[in-house]
Amino acid sequence: NWRCRSAFKLLEIDEKHKILKPGNVVIDCGAAPGSWCQVAAIKVNATEKDPSQPTGIVIGVDLLHIEPLDNVSFFPNSDFTNKDVQQSILGSLGGKKVHVVLSDMAPRASDARQLDHELSVELCASVLRFSVGVLKHGGHLLCKLWMGPEQNKLHAALDKMFTNVKVVKPPASRTSSSEIYFLAKNFKGVPSDKIK
Ligand code: SAM
Repeated sequence: NWRCRSAFKLLEIDEKHKILKPGNVVIDCGAAPGSWCQVAAIKVNATEKDPSQPTGIVIGVDLLHIEPLDNVSFFPNSDFTNKDVQQSILGSLGGKKVHVVLSDMAPRASDARQLDHELSVELCASVLRFSVGVLKHGGHLLCKLWMGPEQNKLHAALDKMFTNVKVVKPPASRTSSSEIYFLAKNFKGVPSDKIK
């Protein structure tokens, strides 16, 4: 029983693109009510269902309250874009690098489509900045974006840091919605001209 239908989006994306593996460390941004964490916990074997496979770690963070879930650590009532929150997440990792960063975060929708798009881009940028510091080389980032004119800049930034960047729209995402997902695979680090 998934906590919400969003589960199917991650299941479909993972089925096709194989991003979550047993033993992976995963951070899920915008995790409430928790269905992506449910999917991730199974896929990375955080549940230890398969004792022959390594045990993964799943950490979820959200502005909202999240009901506890076995084998998942939550940072509820927490704004992911807040530096202190990011520090707490890093602290809980104790120096471990992350295989996969997920973000299904979205701003609260308004009538102003352009503004919503820009806020969505800002959330993605925050996820990308964080990911650069924690991702293992070869790690992946899956990030929701509400489409719009700033999309190409984000795509270009991802292209510099990952070997393979795709825009994906899982069938479970309504065709009418302007949401897409950036799937950036194989983190290769930050180009040296970006390090100041
Ligand atoms: N993937 C989730 C699941 O399967 O249960 C559903 C996520 S829902 C579509 C988007 C979530 O992003 C909301 O719960 C919202 O509170 C959260 N969110 C938006 N901005 C956030 C922020 N700055 N920090 C943390 N969470 C945020």
